[in-house]
Amino acid sequence: MSAVYQDLVTSLRQGFPQPVSDRVHDSYFVFSFLRALDQLDGMKSASPLLGTPVTLDYAAAKQSRMNEGPIQLEQVTQLLVEHLSGMFIWGHPRAQINVIPPPTIASVIGGLLPSIYNPNLVSEESSRQVAVAEVEVSSMTAELIGYDSQQSAGFFTFGGTGTLLYGVKLGLEKACPGSARQGVRERAVIFCSERAHYACLSVANWLGIGQENVIQIPCSPENEMRTCLLETMARDVLKAGGKIAAIVATMGTTDHFGLDDLKSIHEIRDRLVDEFHLDYCPHIHGDAVIGWAWSVFNDYDFDKNPLGFRHRTVRALAGTRRRICELPLADSVGIDFHKTGFTPYISSLFLVRDAADLELITRKQSDTPYLFHDGHYHPGRYTLETSRSGSAPMSALANLRLFGKNGLRALLGHVVSMAEVLREHLEGHASTTVVNRGNFGPVTLFRVYPDGVDTFGVADREQKDPAYRDQLRVHNEYNRRIYQLVQSDALHGEGVVISLTDCYRETDYGEPIVALKSYILSPFAEERYIDSVLQSLWKARAKIAAESAATP
Ligand SMILES: *Cc1c(COP(=O)(O)O)cnc(C)c1O
Repeated sequence: MSAVYQDLVTSLRQGFPQPVSDRVHDSYFVFSFLRALDQLDGMKSASPLLGTPVTLDYAAAKQSRMNEGPIQLEQVTQLLVEHLSGMFIWGHPRAQINVIPPPTIASVIGGLLPSIYNPNLVSEESSRQVAVAEVEVSSMTAELIGYDSQQSAGFFTFGGTGTLLYGVKLGLEKACPGSARQGVRERAVIFCSERAHYACLSVANWLGIGQENVIQIPCSPENEMRTCLLETMARDVLKAGGKIAAIVATMGTTDHFGLDDLKSIHEIRDRLVDEFHLDYCPHIHGDAVIGWAWSVFNDYDFDKNPLGFRHRTVRALAGTRRRICELPLADSVGIDFHKTGFTPYISSLFLVRDAADLELITRKQSDTPYLFHDGHYHPGRYTLETSRSGSAPMSALANLRLFGKNGLRALLGHVVSMAEVLREHLEGHASTTVVNRGNFGPVTLFRVYPDGVDTFGVADREQKDPAYRDQLRVHNEYNRRIYQLVQSDALHGEGVVISLTDCYRETDYGEPIVALKSYILSPFAEERYIDSVLQSLWKARAKIAAESAATP
């Protein structure tokens, strides 16, 4: 008779993929997954949600405890599936929410295979050809953005924030050699634009640079760093004896798709090195987690326009290329496949133009005694992480191959042309204004006004005139209300889910300006759903007008 535990082990073996081929068990594995997918499919509808909106019950979650015995796989998948009910379907044509793409089937499989066989990218010993996939993706992407892939290196990390962390870490070690061993002992600053991602603050905080040493440079109306101010402010820091840990150029800001002028930033950096006889070269990091994908247009012939994009789209894409083609001027670049590359989370690639820079963060062999005995690819010697999943490079590889340049061009061209249609309508209407007019990406920020507001002059007054503060606040509230109404329409399967940003920028007198945001990343977006956004806006305006007429 076997012990109780042995019986348990025997039955739990059925819960693992079989180590030796077993067709019957394979179909049990696949079928279990299929059933989960089937249940999810049953939750799809005209509304961009799985199932219906769910009120989140954290109190019940707090009461959750581990069960005493095992339960059946079928029960487990059922539980898991329920956790997806109420989730947005990012790829739904009625979803224009944020920079979250629907992942392709290829990238899902790319992510799934490593989760079965569990390669660990800490070294090639534990990841074999999946390590090769990481090198492959790094090289393909390096060439795509304009780096020399022989000289550059890349690896995947824990998000766009991680890519920024690596960039600034290299810069810090260049500016203040020895910081890694002895700690940061002098003032070092990070320059970025005021529209840069808050990840700059996180990184300064976690690296010991200090959030207060992040200097945010004011932006132009096109949401790009005013480089003349960068130059002045950098001079001030250097004159006072401070060091520059990094200059972050944001290539595609999160809410506005603003693109910094990397060429000017690069010129300024070189000028400062000469002028101040710096013994280090301030590191430039290109935060291109959003914008990188537009590199596919670097060698697109916009005159011949072989893919047949509309005129307005060509103009938008060429406007973006103008900046994105400068990416190779950055010393390092952050790339999120999980943003504009249509993979599942997390798939973030850090690229460094000169692989030799990685020496700055490489551990001594004696610090890692139990790893890295054979072979030559040991990213674990310089990555912050020890274990790294193979899912990130495999899902990125899947999409790079699946799309090819033309596929990605077509997808980006499509979403940009849908955004352009929306803009055309919003600009043509008397009660709406597009507020990121100079940015030509998939995101549109706009404001809606009640009748009687002169929308030609209002944006300027709101931005500059302190006497307009109360009115601005009223308009902010108005836009929040529009958002709620549009949202509730959308959840009933009528309009489109968009989002709201509490502060797309501040006024000159320090008030946040609210904006509605449409982020189109779904390949299923179509012109009729753009109309449906507009219908929903007009309906919301009418409703508010009726309400305020009823309550004088
Ligand atoms: C999203 C974003 C980040 C952070 O990236 P995660 O992948 O979410 O960690 C950094 N910078 C910019 C410009 C972003 O849009």
